[in-house]
Amino acid sequence: MPLSSFQKQLEDDLQNSVKFTINDNRSTMLSVKWEPHCTKVSLHRFFLNAPENVLNALAGYIKRKDRKIAPAVKTFIEENLNKLDYSQVVNPAKLHVQGETYHLKQLLGDLNQEYFDNTLKLNITWFGKRVQRNRSQVTFGLYHRPLKLIKINRLLDSPKFPPYLVTYVIYHEMLHHVCPSYFDEKGKHRIHNKEFKMLEKKFRHYHEAKQWIEQNRERLFARF
Ligand SMILES: [Zn+2]
Repeated sequence: MPLSSFQKQLEDDLQNSVKFTINDNRSTMLSVKWEPHCTKVSLHRFFLNAPENVLNALAGYIKRKDRKIAPAVKTFIEENLNKLDYSQVVNPAKLHVQGETYHLKQLLGDLNQEYFDNTLKLNITWFGKRVQRNRSQVTFGLYHRPLKLIKINRLLDSPKFPPYLVTYVIYHEMLHHVCPSYFDEKGKHRIHNKEFKMLEKKFRHYHEAKQWIEQNRERLFARF
């Protein structure tokens, strides 16, 4: 259904004007603002190819018949989000790969060779500071899918963290690329899903890494 007829239908149902904005950015997939005289809907470009059932489910949310975004819409967003590729905007020269103890690009290359036949084309960089105070929790690594960018906490750039722990964190983030998250039939977001966990156990030092985290948990998460 073209957007114009979807809009017309919504306006008829709502008895109010509906304004659509199509964006192509990395952050807004769907946003709805209900203003008194106009409902403003911003959608990512990939919604232009949304199937009828997704648009119908979306209509329920826009018309405020559904309080929450329907699983069909979430699944559609997730699937399309996983296909987005903005990695060309990453400037390799601006990535921080060389640390004081660990060279991220080297470690990523070794893992890519050993576990993925050198097939993954991913970027990697350090983030944050080496010394972090007042932390109640710490994120070792992140994966930004549209940028195909793995970010590793600079805190780990220290001999206090054994090599198998650092490579485990990188391997874990690589798996986020290999096993994309999805919404299951109940609408639950499956991030570390079955396949993910199965592949994670293939890491050579999986048990050592898990054990290290367990044994150092208190020291890591202590408030100072
Ligand atoms: Zn994870």
